[in-house]
Amino acid sequence: MREPAPYAARPGLSRGRRHRETAPVNRSEYQRDRDRIVHSTAFRRLEYKTQVFVNHEGDLFRTRLTHSLEVAQIARAVARSLGLDEDLTEAIALAHDLGHTPFGHTGQDALNACMKPHGGFEHNLQSLRVVDLLEQRYAAFDGLNLTFETREGILKHCSLGNARRLAELGERFIRRRQPSLEAQLANLADEIAYNNHDVDDGLRSGLVTLDQLAEVGIFARHMKAVLAEHPRLAGRRLIHETVRRMIDTLVTDLTRTSAANIRARAPRTIEEVRAAPPLIGYSRAVREESLELKRFLRENLYRHYRVVRMSAKARRIVTDLYGAFVADPRLLPPEFQTRAREDAPRAVADYIAGMTDRYAILEHRRLFSIDET
Ligand code: MG
Repeated sequence: MREPAPYAARPGLSRGRRHRETAPVNRSEYQRDRDRIVHSTAFRRLEYKTQVFVNHEGDLFRTRLTHSLEVAQIARAVARSLGLDEDLTEAIALAHDLGHTPFGHTGQDALNACMKPHGGFEHNLQSLRVVDLLEQRYAAFDGLNLTFETREGILKHCSLGNARRLAELGERFIRRRQPSLEAQLANLADEIAYNNHDVDDGLRSGLVTLDQLAEVGIFARHMKAVLAEHPRLAGRRLIHETVRRMIDTLVTDLTRTSAANIRARAPRTIEEVRAAPPLIGYSRAVREESLELKRFLRENLYRHYRVVRMSAKARRIVTDLYGAFVADPRLLPPEFQTRAREDAPRAVADYIAGMTDRYAILEHRRLFSIDET
């Protein structure tokens, strides 16, 4: 096995788990975290949760599961070339979306609006709640009992108010320090994955066109190069070849720039990484191009009227479900009723956040249509 770089997270030097456990035998602490995440219920639910398109809109669009796998693939490749801990990187990438509600950001915004008087709802914090509390699989503890470093990576951002309640995990938001390089990397890999697959899904759905994308720098540049080499290439293969080259450009630049940042700062330990400015990043030129692509997707895909219509329905479903359950917690399944006795809004938010898109649609029908049971 390759010697890890000094600035990499080291399983032997982990800040540990909340509940003491014996050390794993044939795998590292971070491999154990990764394995626990893959076996969790929340991970399986990612298959039926979406980001932009609702699950029933088509079989070929990305789901949160395939998205998380793409993030893990990109992050691991970069982790390996930078000498970071691949297992920790992968664990964070696979867990980063576990707390997402059904219906992507619309679902989260709707639930946050409902929860405003009760502490709000943040999907990042919810991912942490899933691995710390909501998964019920182990005899000795609630949650998955992951290492500090994986939990630190999952909590990408959080409000100052919540940070103060989170003790050692919230500390970095108050002291403005960075997480491990593995966490910084998983975060950027997330962005590379969704920007590129949203281009692909946007084209597949017909909501954005090749003509529109020809106005976006990074896409236009690569499509032109592809057509120069393969003048007769068209349709999906032209799109795939172009997107493949865009991902390659972003990954190559990220690796090169981050390696240079790390060399210049030369952190000797993960603690020095935490005290340094962010070291994983793009060059200025590629960051600009990436921002331009993001802007394009926001204006043309995420705000497309067909997406907005679906979002309006999703918002209504989440808001209706929340209202009905809070008004009468007896409508909740028994295990959530028990929790609702202590804190009804939070128990309802946990129940709704755990739903897949199709489950939320079905549950809405069950509660609001007299024909359903
Ligand atoms: Mg993501």
